[in-house]
Amino acid sequence: MKKLVLASANQHKLQEIQSILKDFEFELVTMKAAGYGEDDIVESGVTFEENSMIKAQAVHNRLRVAALADDSGLEVDCLEGAPGVYSARYAGEPKSDKKNNEKLLNAMKDIQSEDRTARFVTVLTLVFENGDALVARGTVEGKIGFEEKGSNGFGYDPLFIVPELGKTFAELTESEKNALSHRGNALKVMREEIKRYYERTGC
Ligand code: IMP
Repeated sequence: MKKLVLASANQHKLQEIQSILKDFEFELVTMKAAGYGEDDIVESGVTFEENSMIKAQAVHNRLRVAALADDSGLEVDCLEGAPGVYSARYAGEPKSDKKNNEKLLNAMKDIQSEDRTARFVTVLTLVFENGDALVARGTVEGKIGFEEKGSNGFGYDPLFIVPELGKTFAELTESEKNALSHRGNALKVMREEIKRYYERTGC
């Protein structure tokens, strides 16, 4: 089985990606387990695509292995797309999901239900051992609640309502979330990209 190093220290991302890729011929390991160390990669890009590529290339360049990066975040329409690529550190350093959620609720305190539309975005970048790269984007549309609900997942999950279900991501099981999440959707696209790449290159 081929080793694939996840360019992230986020255990939640690892778990979600692992469960979606489980029937694929990759063994997913964290960058720490692969010997990258603890140091954070500087995400200097201004788009999810740029940051995703920066993370995958950084791990690939140092370890010369196949690397997968997930750059993701929340775009809120009434905040002109914020927090966007700054989702992890919306409330500043050190990064805190609790403080981010408090800041978001505060920024939206005067916004009515119909205007609380938002989407999660994930851009995955896979850099193969030979340096070839594949990119896949996934999104999911939803609404920002007026208070946190649920205790599963991570990040903005307790505030992100899936309108068709009337539940937040944090009220869903992992497999329910994966079935409709931005990360799940990006992984479906990536799976097809990988299949096409193998057909094209014969490897
Ligand atoms: P990244 O590690 O730079 O990709 O930052 C991702 C940030 O976006 C996380 O720290 C969360 O704040 C937010 N985020 C991304 N995906 C999710 C998700 O699936 N649920 C909740 N928050 C998420």
